[in-house]
Amino acid sequence: MTLAVYACDPAQTRGRRYPELPAPTRTDFQRDRDRIVHSTAFRRLVYKTQVFLNHEGDLFRTRLTHSLEVAQLGRSIARPLGLNEDLVEAVALAHDLGHTPFGHAGQDALNDCMAAHGGFEHNLQSLRVVDQLEERYPAYDGLNLTFETREGILKHCSRRNAELLETQEPGGVARRFIDRSQPSLEAQLCNIADAIAYNAHDIDDGVRSGLITLAQLQSVDLFERYRRESLAEHPALGEPQRARRLLYETIRRMLSAQVYDVIAATRQALSEAAPASADQARQAGAMLRFSPAMHAQSTALKQFLFAQLYRHPQVMQTTTQAQIVVRELFQAYSARPAEMPAGHASRLDTARAVADYIAGMTDRFAGREHERLTGRKLL
Ligand code: MG
Repeated sequence: MTLAVYACDPAQTRGRRYPELPAPTRTDFQRDRDRIVHSTAFRRLVYKTQVFLNHEGDLFRTRLTHSLEVAQLGRSIARPLGLNEDLVEAVALAHDLGHTPFGHAGQDALNDCMAAHGGFEHNLQSLRVVDQLEERYPAYDGLNLTFETREGILKHCSRRNAELLETQEPGGVARRFIDRSQPSLEAQLCNIADAIAYNAHDIDDGVRSGLITLAQLQSVDLFERYRRESLAEHPALGEPQRARRLLYETIRRMLSAQVYDVIAATRQALSEAAPASADQARQAGAMLRFSPAMHAQSTALKQFLFAQLYRHPQVMQTTTQAQIVVRELFQAYSARPAEMPAGHASRLDTARAVADYIAGMTDRFAGREHERLTGRKLL
């Protein structure tokens, strides 16, 4: 792997919170990636909702397959730009570890429950998972990841929480939300790879579920352009029994176009700003980007998915039920902490302990616990 001068070099890492001896053959970012893959929170991603609830079908994306797709897209973009693929992969695989069960519905409900106790933010929760909640090492809590991986995991953070984190870790991963600088280029890349991934797979899952149709998608420029291109090159894809292949071919071309667009636009931005180090790149403003034309098309696709899929009455109905499950779980554990495992029940910060416990649940475990505690089966 040849690293550009502006890439994060593992030899220059700002290090781990608890110093460790270097590994004989792996870099620090490879070790971070490996620790994430072996974590408990990572295994739970397979049973956590992306958009569709886990029990709605076996072929829909879950948080796990989504994270793998983000890692794949991230690596594809990182290599030609000379960025650190291992760091990109580590951040991509960890970026959703803090997600609650039931996707954004669960997160919103938990945030409401925690309103009087500091709220709930899933990016901050991802950092809590790798910093505190994983219990695997004899001498400390968490996975003891490098600064650079943790920096990438904390993708967003409210000002209030950033100031709180800054008091615990001065000059640490929250500082950039206070001084408004950027994270590493590798972290910026994961954000854009995340958006490319979900825009594409939500089309696929949306059509699979029957909630959106190919006909509706023809109003989306980014989709329609590559649908027409696919049909022009492969007219047989117009046959009704080949509709799924047409969908896949269209999405494949959309993905490639966005990946190559990001590479070209970012190369241009980097050659203009010419950062001479990873730290200079952090100060240079957002470098990872689409071209203006692709940015507009990607935004239009996002708006389409928001209106037609995420706000679809059928999605909204399960959303409402999922929020009831999370709220009632929160009430039940808050009233009777002993219903939680001893490690959570014994904590003095009860509300946060309940939030941590619920956030860690898979969709199906949350459903089962809700049924056990309330006697009602909602999902
Ligand atoms: Mg994501």
